[in-house]
Amino acid sequence: MPEYEILSGLIRLHILYHASREGLFGLGMIHELREHGYKIGPGTLYPLLHRMEKQGYLRSRERVVDGKQRRWYTTTPRGRRALLEAKARVGELFREIVKDETPEARSHRHHKKT
Ligand SMILES: [Zn+2]
Repeated sequence: MPEYEILSGLIRLHILYHASREGLFGLGMIHELREHGYKIGPGTLYPLLHRMEKQGYLRSRERVVDGKQRRWYTTTPRGRRALLEAKARVGELFREIVKDETPEARSHRHHKKT
């Protein structure tokens, strides 16, 4: 996948988010990520899921989904804490790099108004 090094953190957050909601399995997550424009394949995603499980963010069990045996991932308490922490950081990063609102820019605008 192009620019994987830069985007991999966003992909991990996306995985944590869906695992914390309804849970996910590898192939379903690949489709979900494709819809968001991330062209990630099983050769990248499966090792990533295994790593996140080993690191204690996810747990998995076998589950039948639409008649097929799947490895189903959900978050651990550590995964949910990491997601909460990341939410605050993502919001801050979004304000800076998308809306161009650095803390200084915010105070500049404030000065102009007054
Ligand atoms: Zn999504």
